Amino acid sequence: SHIQHIRNFCIIAHIDHGKSTLSDRIIEKTRTVEQRKMKEQFLDSMDIERERGITIKSASVRINYQAKNGTKYIFNLIDTPGHVDFNYEVSRSLAACEGALLVIDATQGMRAQTLANFFLAMENNLSILPVINKIDLPAADIPMVTKQIVNELGLEEESIVPISAKSGIGVDDLLEKIIDFIPIPSRKEPQEEKLQALIFDSFYDNFRGVVLCIRVFSGSISERERVKLFFSGKEYITEEVGHLKIERVKCHQLTEGEVGYVMLGIRSINEVRVGDTITSAQSPCAKPLPGYREVKPMVFSGVFPIDSNQYEDLQVAVDKLKLNDSSLYYEKDNSGALGFGYRCGFLGLLHMEVFQERIEREFNVPVLLTSPSVRYRVYLKKDPENYIVVDNPSKLPDPSNIIKIEEPYMSVNIITPNTYLGNVMQLVQDRRGVQKNLRYLDQVQVECTFEIPLGEVVFDFYDKLKSLSKGYASMDYDLADYRSNDIVKVEILVNKEPVDALSFMVHREHAVHRSRSILEKLKDEIPRHMFQIPLQAAIGSNIIARQTISAIRKDVTAKCYGGDISRKRKLLEKQKEGKKKMKSFGSVSIPQTAFINILKDR
Ligand code: GDP
Ligand code: MG
Repeated sequence: SHIQHIRNFCIIAHIDHGKSTLSDRIIEKTRTVEQRKMKEQFLDSMDIERERGITIKSASVRINYQAKNGTKYIFNLIDTPGHVDFNYEVSRSLAACEGALLVIDATQGMRAQTLANFFLAMENNLSILPVINKIDLPAADIPMVTKQIVNELGLEEESIVPISAKSGIGVDDLLEKIIDFIPIPSRKEPQEEKLQALIFDSFYDNFRGVVLCIRVFSGSISERERVKLFFSGKEYITEEVGHLKIERVKCHQLTEGEVGYVMLGIRSINEVRVGDTITSAQSPCAKPLPGYREVKPMVFSGVFPIDSNQYEDLQVAVDKLKLNDSSLYYEKDNSGALGFGYRCGFLGLLHMEVFQERIEREFNVPVLLTSPSVRYRVYLKKDPENYIVVDNPSKLPDPSNIIKIEEPYMSVNIITPNTYLGNVMQLVQDRRGVQKNLRYLDQVQVECTFEIPLGEVVFDFYDKLKSLSKGYASMDYDLADYRSNDIVKVEILVNKEPVDALSFMVHREHAVHRSRSILEKLKDEIPRHMFQIPLQAAIGSNIIARQTISAIRKDVTAKCYGGDISRKRKLLEKQKEGKKKMKSFGSVSIPQTAFINILKDR
């Protein structure tokens, strides 16, 4: 393939603006996948993504396109995730492209993620082709969106392509426009002749090991060639190279400008870092490719198998998920009550929940996640100049040895229609946020900047924001700094025993309120036992809230009057099923779901 005939691009959009639908339509129109194999939302291959309607994992697909003038082109379409938790994945995908289709919903116009993605694309020097989607809808307001694109993004009105990804209107024109508008692939370093390939994604194949998705910026990579990874410094012989056409298609060589995959016979997952540069071992390039960023997990949680015999299964699962998820951080951990497990770092609560679901669905290991925590800086009396980092409440030193605790703050950017501004302000205030800035983008849309403690943002802030604004407000966030606050550790005692997994850190002023709401939920989550169970929240030895679960003698079949045998069996099975996902703490069983549920919706 000739470099003049390659176009590498991604689609960026605010969530729900139609990125997946457009990808599907392009794949369909170019007959990249046979009609009978075409499922809706092809690139969103994982069940969880389908169900939640979000794209987690980037995927790339090579498309053959014959232009109206007969010339044959190769498009590499790289899908990108659309939730705030997954910003790093977006930046990696962008680094592999020359251009981006910026999709904007004609009924909604620009939203926070439209802007955030636009800036990310600008930072990566991409050519941005504005696409107005959903023009089939009666509420479509093309002039309004056009005005936003021209005035606020500074893009050319002539470049705008109006489409309906759903019905296919305008998509043929869009394909033609991609050829003219998206630049021919270029090197990052014009003078660099040697192999320089960016690893922008990776996944695990059970038979072949690690498969790396790469973009060749200069030189070429062939099968049976000695290569080197820049950051890790390790050398390999390439086992196979090829193209990603949804299925892998082997070839002999990937040349400058191409996107494809390479297998290096890597089996140990910790060997590869997405963002690393592949070069020739014999004559390496001088510098690695730019675009790599250190991933910073924001939320930390302990992950333990419900059944401690499944620790090894958990180990396999975590190792494999890590391979497909460069943002995941983990290390071994153990707890008196929970046994062996992992301490994991996530980008946000959604990332954490998706991780839990995948471990259970794909690897069949029911797990318990402990109260998530952010990273605090703790200054101790014996060494007042330095801080230690604490991301696990149970590892917090005794308060009498602590001088101060600093917590991370985020700079949070929210765009909302002014009707919901009052709700937004209330939410921010409840979360100890401070307003920094406010401006009107037009008559209706307001953009505000707040500084809010990370611990108050990561848990369910995004979901709250969505619901109080009927889905209209959107947000974006960045780490700002660390500030000293009156942070305390609250322990939860179940039947007088502290349950490590439930202890959490909180601002002293919110401790009582939050403890009460947690105990109330815990009361609903823990089934009644044969004895009465006191639930308490404590700061040190000081009990700040309490609840009681009364005793019951539970016989699930009592209501059946011995009549219907099959119903009786069903009930017993259900009870057994429920028990499987419980964890015993002393004499009390706590359901797995309790741990995440009590933290939501606080
Ligand atoms: P993504 O989050 O950006 O990937 O958005 P999706 O592609 O999942 O689309 C979100 C919703 O908008 C889905 O219900 C789509 O069916 C719908 N949608 C996407 N494009 C169009 C369009 O052109 N017209 C209409 N009417 N609906 C669309
Ligand atoms: Mg999608």
